[in-house]
Amino acid sequence: MTDTVRTVLTTCPYCGTGCGVKAEVAADGAVTISGDPDHPANFGRLCVKGAALAETLGHDGRLLHPEIAGRRVTWNAALDAVASRFAATIAEHGPDSVALYVSGQILTEDYYVANKLMKGFVGSANIDTNSRLCMASSVAGHKRAFGSDTVPGCYEDLDSADLVVLTGSNLAWCHPILYQRIAAAKAARPAMKVVNIDPRLTATDDIADLHLGLEPGSDVALFAGLLAHLEGTGHRDGDFVAAHTSGLDAALAAAASFADLDAVARATGLAPADIATFYGWFGATEKTVTVYSQGVNQSSAGTDKVNAIVNCHLLTGRIGREGMGPFSVTGQPNAMGGREVGGLANQLAAHLELDDPAHRALVQDFWGSPTIAATPGHKAVELFEAVADGRIKALWIMATNPVDSLPDADRVRAALRSCPFVVVSDVVRDTDTTALADVLLPAEAWGEKDGTVTNSERRITRQRRLVAPAGEARPDWWALAHVGRRLGWTSAFAWDRAAAVFREHAALSGHRPEIVRDFDISGFADLSDEDFATLAPFQWPRRTGEPAPDGPKRFFADGRFFTPDGRGRLIATHPRPPRAKPSPELPFWLNTGRVRDQWHTMTRTGLAPKLTGHIAEPFAEIADADAERLGIAPASLVTIANGRAAVVVRALVTDRQRPGSVFVPIHWTDRVASSARIGALIAPETDPLSGQPESKAATVAVRPFAAV
Ligand code: SF4
Repeated sequence: MTDTVRTVLTTCPYCGTGCGVKAEVAADGAVTISGDPDHPANFGRLCVKGAALAETLGHDGRLLHPEIAGRRVTWNAALDAVASRFAATIAEHGPDSVALYVSGQILTEDYYVANKLMKGFVGSANIDTNSRLCMASSVAGHKRAFGSDTVPGCYEDLDSADLVVLTGSNLAWCHPILYQRIAAAKAARPAMKVVNIDPRLTATDDIADLHLGLEPGSDVALFAGLLAHLEGTGHRDGDFVAAHTSGLDAALAAAASFADLDAVARATGLAPADIATFYGWFGATEKTVTVYSQGVNQSSAGTDKVNAIVNCHLLTGRIGREGMGPFSVTGQPNAMGGREVGGLANQLAAHLELDDPAHRALVQDFWGSPTIAATPGHKAVELFEAVADGRIKALWIMATNPVDSLPDADRVRAALRSCPFVVVSDVVRDTDTTALADVLLPAEAWGEKDGTVTNSERRITRQRRLVAPAGEARPDWWALAHVGRRLGWTSAFAWDRAAAVFREHAALSGHRPEIVRDFDISGFADLSDEDFATLAPFQWPRRTGEPAPDGPKRFFADGRFFTPDGRGRLIATHPRPPRAKPSPELPFWLNTGRVRDQWHTMTRTGLAPKLTGHIAEPFAEIADADAERLGIAPASLVTIANGRAAVVVRALVTDRQRPGSVFVPIHWTDRVASSARIGALIAPETDPLSGQPESKAATVAVRPFAAV
C-alpha cells in the first residue's frame, strides 16, 4: 500500500446513523476508508456501504460542466440563465410560480442558503425536500407532542435499554451500525429483549425475541392498545403525567376500544398471546426505547402512528432518561440538518414556525430581508402537482431524482416535461431527472464537499473534502448564492466559504434566545475558519457561553417541554386504514423499502462492484402460498401492476412474507433495470398533517410475466 499523506475525518453520506469515516489519502490519490474510531455514532464500525465509499470516488458518469439544452456552457452563462429566468417568472407570475426541490443529501450550509433565498428574498415557501418522503411524520408528531421537533434521546440509549422495540424499521439493512450496537448490547446482556414489529420477517429478526407481523397500517391500534394496557395495569407514572403532560383523558378515551386484547388482535391480525407478551414486556421494563422509521412515517396516518408511540412513553414517564424514550431514526444523512435550517416548506430556520408572526419577524430581522414567506409552501407531492397544472413554472431540483423516487412517478415525469424551465444540480450526468433539465449544474460529490450534516441523535459532524472536485463541480450553496447575487441581493449572499455560512446559521439560532426553543448553536457564531476546519462532532444545542464539548444527550427529563404550557401532549389517535383498499382486481398490498447494499436510485452505490454483488437485480418478495396459488415459480419473472403502471421483476418466493403482501425495493430505475420504477405504482396519497406519502400501502395485482 502507498504511504498515507493525509488523514481526513468526515461523515458517511448514506443513512441517518451518520457514521464517522476516516479517509487516508495517499500521494498517488488512492483513498483508503475505515471507520473513525473516535466518532460517537459508530466507534470505528462501518457497514458495507460505508466501507465501499472509496469505490465510488471515480469520475465515471459525472456531470463535469454546466450545460444549457445539452450543450456545455460556462458557469457564468448557466447562472445568468437561471437568475434571469427565475426573475422573469417571478415578475410575471409572482413568487409562488418558482420553486426549489432539494434533498437530505445536501449539506446544512446548502440547505441554509436555499431557504434564505426562497423564503427571505424570493418571498415564497415553495421549497421542499425529499426528506418529506423520509421523516416528515416524525417532525409533525414531535411538534404535536413536544411543541418542537426535538429528538429526546441518543444512541447510547440503545446500548443501555433493557427492551428495544423496533417498529417499521428493518434496522439491520437500513441503519446497520445502529443494529450492530443493539446486537452488541444484547450479546453483552442476554436478558435484554428486542421486539420487531414489521409485516414481514427481515434480517432484523435475527436479534428479535418476538416478531409481530401486523396487518399493514394497523400500528395505531397496536400502540393504542398498549396505552390502554399500561393504564389498566398501573404503569402510569402518576407524578410525571400530572406535573408534565396534558391530554391524558382524551388519549385514553380514544384508546378505550382497544383495551381488550381480542380487539387489538382483530385490528392487527396478531395472535392475542403475542400481543400480551409485547404489552407485558413493555409494562415491566423501565428502560425501553421504541425505535421507528419509514414503516411508521410513510403512511397516510404517519403522524398519528408517531403520536401513538410517543403517548406510551409520556404515560410511563419513560422519556429523556438513560435507556428510554421514543426514537425516530432518519433515513438520510442530513434529514436532521435540513430541519435545523427550515428545510421543509412549512418551517423556518432554527426550528421556528413559518405560520408564527413572531418567528417570521425574528428571521426577517436577522436576515434584513425585503420580505418573508407568510404561508407554508407546497409539500413535495403537492409541489409536483403544482408543476403539473402549471402553477409552478420554474423549478430547481437539487441532489435528488424525483422522476424515479416520488409517488406517481410517471406523472412527475410528465410534469417536468411540461414545466417551462427546469434546473437540475447533480453530481451525475444521466438520470431520469437530468434528462428533463433545461439547465444542468455540476455539484460537488461526497469526498469533494465541505460543510456539516446532523445525524439522528442531533449530532453535527463535518463532511470534509478528500479529493479535488471533478471537472467544474461547485458546492450547491455557492451556486445558490451566485443566483441570489444576480437577483440583486449581493450582500445577503456574499459568503465565500462554507464556514461563513455555518457561522451565520449559528448566529441566527441565537438571535432571539427568548423565542428560539430547542435548536440553538449560537456558541459557534464566532467560530474561526481554523476551528471550523477541525470542528469535532457535537450534539446540539450549544448555546452562547455554554462550555464545550457537547450539548445535552437527552431532552425532557426535567419534564419541561416546548409547548406553550410547558407540558408534553398525549394525543388522541384513531386508527385509519391505508387509503387504498385491496380489491379482487388489486388484491395485494405493495410494500417498498431499501436493500442492504444500495442507496436511493443507485447513482452512487451502483458504482461499487462490492455492493452490486449483494443483490444484483430488482425483485418481488412474495409469500410461498401466494406464489403457488398464482403459478409463480421461484426466480421467474412477475408483473406487478395497477392502474398507474406495471413493473416486471424477478420473484423471490419466501416464507418470510405475509400472504397478500408483496415487497419490492425502491432502488432500481429504468436506467439500470428496464421497467423497475416502483415509484410509478405508488398513489400520491399523503398524511394530512405531515404531507408524507403513503409509500408502503399501494394495492397491486401480481401475475406471472407473459411476453407479448
Ligand atoms: Fe454509512 Fe449508515 Fe452504514 Fe453508517 S450505518 S456506514 S452511516 S450507511
